[in-house]
Amino acid sequence: MKKLLIAALGAVLISTASFASHSWSTYHWARTTNSFDLTIVNSTTNDWDIYVAQAVSDWSASTKLNMIEDPNSDDTRTKTRRRCNGPAGQVRICNLAYGQTGWLGIAGISIDTDGHITTGYTKLNDTYFSQSYYNNAEWKQSVTCQELGHNVGLDHQDEDFNNQSLFSCMDYQDPPFEFPNAHDFDQLDTIYGHTDSYNSYDDGGSTGGGGGCNAPPGKGCNKGEAPGNNRDTGWGISLGRRGQSETFMRIDPDGTRHIVHVTWAIGH
Ligand SMILES: [Zn+2]
Ligand SMILES: [Zn+2]
Repeated sequence: MKKLLIAALGAVLISTASFASHSWSTYHWARTTNSFDLTIVNSTTNDWDIYVAQAVSDWSASTKLNMIEDPNSDDTRTKTRRRCNGPAGQVRICNLAYGQTGWLGIAGISIDTDGHITTGYTKLNDTYFSQSYYNNAEWKQSVTCQELGHNVGLDHQDEDFNNQSLFSCMDYQDPPFEFPNAHDFDQLDTIYGHTDSYNSYDDGGSTGGGGGCNAPPGKGCNKGEAPGNNRDTGWGISLGRRGQSETFMRIDPDGTRHIVHVTWAIGH
């Protein structure tokens, strides 16, 4: 079963690369409504705040979702930023000098057994962003935009650094483009063109008194414990690498899948 699932996902990824569609597999947040508000917990230090605010604002131009930045999160504790655990039903974004890991940024999502995203995180690696090659607004804005795009189910539009720019942060270019484009919003319209029977995002609902989660028991934000994604060596198996992009998956005994999208730094 595990093997089958992996094979099927691999096939989806390959077909994603071959066609104009650039959804990230079929990954999406469950919603009962046409549009939803996704909380982005900003655990970056002040120097990243402008890039996070810009990307949050840019993606909120979608008719299908708003990203709501929660700036009141702990960005002073290294441990918080190293772990960068996404709260249930939300996304956390962090920066840190994560070391010579080879990656510039990673976006992780967890998928429940119904195939919906239940939490996500983005890590931005200052070990590389402090180097002159990457230490500029183009790279910082573009990678912030791209990883948050992955957190809502988008894949890259194109992965050739040397061809015509598509003028999207979901397109590999050098120097990279900093913002989403119309095709990204079209893709979000497609991904979120249906509604679901529950919310896997934290909808802030007041019923139940369970910390603002309306999901049924065992679903979405009501899954009990936030999955750990602090184990950099715990990404699981590689589903394949295309250029500077690689995806990993690990499956919990309860069927929850943890997917990590890695943006490798050039030369790694
Ligand atoms: Zn759905
Ligand atoms: Zn990417």
